[in-house]
Amino acid sequence: MKSSDIRKAFLDYFASKGHEVVPSSPLIPGNDPTLLFTNAGMVQFKDCFLGKDQRSYTRATSSQRCVRAGGKHNDLENVGYTARHHTFFEMLGNFSFGDYFKEDAIKFAWEFLTSPQWLNLPTEKLMVTVYAEDDEAYDIWNKQVGVPADKIVRIGDNKGARYASDNFWAMGDTGPCGPCTEIFYDHGEHIWGGPPGSPEEDGDRFIEIWNNVFMQFERKENGDMIPLPKPSVDTGMGLERISAIMQGVHSNYEIDLFQALLKAAGELTGCKDSENKSLRVIADHIRSTSFLIVDGVLPSNEGRGYVLRRIIRRAIRHGHMLGAPLGFFHKLVPALAEQMGDAYPELVTLTAHVQKVLRLEEEQFAKTLDKGMGILNEAIAGLKGDTIPGETAFKLYDTYGFPFDLTADVARERDLKVDEDGFNAAMDKQREMARAAGNFAGNYGKGLEIDGSTEFLGYTQLENTGAVKALFKD
Ligand code: ATP
Ligand code: MG
Ligand code: MG
Ligand code: MG
Repeated sequence: MKSSDIRKAFLDYFASKGHEVVPSSPLIPGNDPTLLFTNAGMVQFKDCFLGKDQRSYTRATSSQRCVRAGGKHNDLENVGYTARHHTFFEMLGNFSFGDYFKEDAIKFAWEFLTSPQWLNLPTEKLMVTVYAEDDEAYDIWNKQVGVPADKIVRIGDNKGARYASDNFWAMGDTGPCGPCTEIFYDHGEHIWGGPPGSPEEDGDRFIEIWNNVFMQFERKENGDMIPLPKPSVDTGMGLERISAIMQGVHSNYEIDLFQALLKAAGELTGCKDSENKSLRVIADHIRSTSFLIVDGVLPSNEGRGYVLRRIIRRAIRHGHMLGAPLGFFHKLVPALAEQMGDAYPELVTLTAHVQKVLRLEEEQFAKTLDKGMGILNEAIAGLKGDTIPGETAFKLYDTYGFPFDLTADVARERDLKVDEDGFNAAMDKQREMARAAGNFAGNYGKGLEIDGSTEFLGYTQLENTGAVKALFKD
């Protein structure tokens, strides 16, 4: 089954259950300055859950483009290292705004996955988790759906764990949240990893495919949990992960959506190995960066623009490592447009614009990349111990335009660490000096803070055709 067929089947299934098919919203959340990027299907419906927005429907379904490269959900560092994480992916979702709750949500998910009429997955390969105290969800799975007890795991909220499952889902530090139940697929003994809740769960054998969240609370800034006006449902299934299963492959990078991209990246970088980590990073990053640019983000030194810049520079560095000629990255855009243009026509219309933005960033970074890599290699060669000093990371950032995570990425490849506290201290010191000199220091420090005023311009530009034209004028 092609990814596009799976996307369609999902929407068709939920339409047949009375859900309104709603298009994907942009990656920049329309009216939510608390969120860096749209990181889940529920984002555009946030106010429906909170009871602040009334729609003509109480059930919806969508295939939402998502970016997880900053903020609460940040998978940037996982890309290239796991079979299942991207910075950009599509989330298939069904939503109930005070309409159905746990029972229907669970039954819908199970029917779609296992019914011969729909995906027809073998039930013995599926496992589920429920929130530790959620006996109701447990009983629905066990008694009504018939999932055996040894395939149901109770999981609490594992605060602080890096990947470890956490069955209390939240969009961000504030906003709608609630307990969830997740469905996992066993890719087989030959792959390292253990079932959810086990010490080996971070492996890629049991892969989480679908999260069903029972939205019940709104978390306020002071941490208070306020019950929502009506219990609701929010679900998300990664299109790339379910495609891997339906296409009989293990890694998301082996699915149809990635084939042409990996091929094009292979040709441009001269790397013939489609399993090469850097090649995968590049194929992933061309998706997130292109879609962010389509949605109005431009590389900059702060907020959303800085996240975009970080991803682009990371991709360029990986190309450099493969020996790619400078300026290879923007040449991947046509392959992406070819692959995803049917689902996202804006990608085709804006191909030239996306290429131009990427090319300019490539040209700018090219001036300092080689030199910066030289400095970093020297520092590593002279290293006593396993930690690159914060001062070095800061110099690379400040003089050579290396985002901190790029230095961290290099360090990780060589089994080293970077002194992040030292980096931040150097940053603070510089800011202090700038302030003392009466300059405006900006907020480029963390690079992740959202600057509402600049960033929302991008969104407005998208909404406003006149401005879009001005922006895209060559
Ligand atoms: P994981 O534990 O594997 O990191 P998650 O629990 O963070 O996933 P959710 O927030 O529950 O993911 O999102 C719902 C679904 O979206 C997941 O079950 C998965 O199928 C998909 N998904 C989440 N993050 C990614 C990602 N970075 N790349 C691709 N798909 C993803
Ligand atoms: Mg995650
Ligand atoms: Mg998870
Ligand atoms: Mg999850």
